[in-house]
Amino acid sequence: AKSDGRATYRYFSDEMTSRARERIEVETRLRRAVAAGQLVLYFQPQVDIASGCIVGAEALVRWNDPDEGLIPPARFIPVAEATGVIGEIGDWVLVEACRQGQRWRDEGLPPLTLAVNVSPRQFLLGDMVGRIAEVLEETGFPAQNLELEVTEGALMEREQDGLQALRRLRALGARIAIDDFGTGYSSLAYLKRFPLDVLKIDRSFITGLPDDADDVAISATIIAMGHSLGVEVLAEGVETPEQLAFLRGKGCDRFQGYLCSRPVPAGEFAALLRANVQQ
Ligand code: C2E
Ligand code: CA
Ligand code: CA
Ligand code: CA
Repeated sequence: AKSDGRATYRYFSDEMTSRARERIEVETRLRRAVAAGQLVLYFQPQVDIASGCIVGAEALVRWNDPDEGLIPPARFIPVAEATGVIGEIGDWVLVEACRQGQRWRDEGLPPLTLAVNVSPRQFLLGDMVGRIAEVLEETGFPAQNLELEVTEGALMEREQDGLQALRRLRALGARIAIDDFGTGYSSLAYLKRFPLDVLKIDRSFITGLPDDADDVAISATIIAMGHSLGVEVLAEGVETPEQLAFLRGKGCDRFQGYLCSRPVPAGEFAALLRANVQQ
């Protein structure tokens, strides 16, 4: 029995070692990928529901691996979060989004709000707000056109730090959106305390529209609550005209989803925008 125990222990220990090794390997590959310029930004249009015009885009990162091709963020963001590489990735995304946004301004494209995801760790570690101020200064992109997407979890984890960071972001002039709204362990009271500009209704509440009674109740309530608090409401993951019609009926401000477009490379996004304006 004693040797069995040792065998089991050894088995787990080996497994842990190989997992740790795998994590370190992915971490090393990720750091190299950032340094080698293998990250790419895609842009998904955000549409003003009342006018039908594209008014912004969410920047979404992909990893263009020479061997594996385009790797979706779900496969590397969690590792990046766990290992801290998210700091480098987040910084790259911020700089690249602001540079691209400024390029589009220089080309005379209509004004856009660019939404950038900020991971919980990135939000709470280091001087994120100071870095954002620096990047805006360096790229010339206006703070008013930058929207930072943070999750409820990031804010609730260290509430005082979160609150302070949001206040400083606001003071810069940047906008703040709560991502995946409704999925976190949120206390609604924070909506009153935190300076916010946008609630993004999570896709999981949009899927069942307009037939699912729960999705109808939840999304209508978020829209009404957002408006009574003076914040904009954006629906993500809108795929059908029926979903959009429901949201329009409830006065939802913006939408994002395959109904308009999947996330696309910068060049394709600019083409979408030009076509949208000519309509
Ligand atoms: P998210 O922030 O909730 O982004 C929305 C995701 O939903 C995107 O997936 C987008 O492609 C997808 N989506 C948009 N419209 C539709 C639709 O109509 N139907 C369906 N089924 N899906 C739709 P993506 O690009 O794979 O990104 C996944 C997640 O990875 C993001 O979720 C975000 O949490 C994370 N992520 C992406 N880029 C970054 C980044 O630059 N930094 C950080 N920290 N996280 C990022
Ligand atoms: Ca997001
Ligand atoms: Ca989201
Ligand atoms: Ca989501």
